[in-house]
Amino acid sequence: MEESTIYLIIAVSLTILFLIYDTYRRRPRRTIYITRELLVCTKCNYRVERDAEPGDFIGLLKGKCPSCGGDLKITGIYAVEKK
Ligand SMILES: [Zn+2]
Repeated sequence: MEESTIYLIIAVSLTILFLIYDTYRRRPRRTIYITRELLVCTKCNYRVERDAEPGDFIGLLKGKCPSCGGDLKITGIYAVEKK
């Protein structure tokens, strides 16, 4: 057997072993995170937390305040563990 073939077999074996190990390692504590955002009314300080949507960023005016009709501003975006 050629030396290069042996090296190739070793490389492939290590890759497979790593993939198996990686899958095994992740399975027990598979945590799912969800992205939430905090919206605060610019007029009355009404606060509401909801799921963040793609394209949202801090400072974006999004939606109307259900309490006074003012603009809701995103003041924070964060990931939380899904329970
Ligand atoms: Zn308001």
